[in-house]
Amino acid sequence: MKISDILKTKSTISFEIFPPKNKDGDISSIYHTIEELSKLNPDFISVTYGAGGSNRDKTIEIASTIKNQYHIESVAHLTCINATEESIRDICQQLRNNNVENILGLRGDFPNDPNFNKDEMVFHYAKELDEFIIKEFPNDFCLSGACYPEVHYEADCFEDDLKALKQKVDAGAEYLVTQVFYDNNYYYRLVKEARRIGITVPILAGIMPVTNAKSLLRSSKMCGSSVPYNLSTMIENYYHYPKAVREIGINYATAQIIDLITNGVDGIHIYTMNKPEIAQSIFASIPTVLENLNHD
Ligand code: FAD
Repeated sequence: MKISDILKTKSTISFEIFPPKNKDGDISSIYHTIEELSKLNPDFISVTYGAGGSNRDKTIEIASTIKNQYHIESVAHLTCINATEESIRDICQQLRNNNVENILGLRGDFPNDPNFNKDEMVFHYAKELDEFIIKEFPNDFCLSGACYPEVHYEADCFEDDLKALKQKVDAGAEYLVTQVFYDNNYYYRLVKEARRIGITVPILAGIMPVTNAKSLLRSSKMCGSSVPYNLSTMIENYYHYPKAVREIGINYATAQIIDLITNGVDGIHIYTMNKPEIAQSIFASIPTVLENLNHD
């Protein structure tokens, strides 16, 4: 089923996982993660993709397993920064053959490789990837796109990023998923301004529970997500107490989710970091709130 069809009837709860990284390429640990997440009955699970295509086969394999063995809708992330038309065609064919109907179309980050030649790029922006997939595979996939409540780091300003987002939606992205944010006001601003310029598709809120102090710093640096004073103070105060940091992270994310649901969010997308127990803790603490996500 296409996620856009689910979103026509309800607000969604979904998870993001990534192919496990280890030397021998063994991804078997992901099956325990999926098994545990499946108990929470998500509307879909998305699987990330290495920008250089490094874990391409694993993304396809995991997205296929979610769909065909766990009977949960899956979304395969797909980046195009150094892709060719042929490679994108090949991946889409594999996804289609495996009944995966949803793709999160991304440009990806520029590689650190000094030999990377921008002039050789076939796809310059995610919207070009969307246009290509729609041309080659009309009606086969529901496409979605990334959006940035605190502005993408390459954009000069919020307004420019928003205009580029509108182009991505016009190119075929049927819903959007936000970058991580720790201050819900950034999400509300993005939704309000997106609606102002005619972006009408659902915008799912990306929530990443803090699980340790270092990962908060890393994710905030990588994703450009600012850390509110109260959150950073709490984390710093318990820096040497990992269990306390985790409790704070789970409670903070839970409070964000309650606030978002109260304000009519289109969907909650939890970046699980392959730690299902974190999502389980959140679900266990607000079962009734989540059950009533779609109440009038
Ligand atoms: P685009 O939408 O192409 O935008 C990139 C930049 O170009 C922005 O600054 C935008 O404002 C600007 N722009 C866009 N169109 C135009 C235009 N026509 N003219 C001028 N400027 C324009 N990365 C991975 O490698 N693998 C993943 O699995 C992955 N999953 C992600 C999931 C989510 C929900 C999010 C939010 C990000 C994810 N990323 C992932 C990171 C993403 O690849 C990077 O943030 C990347 O730098 C931008 O990708 P994009 O698709 O948003 O790019």
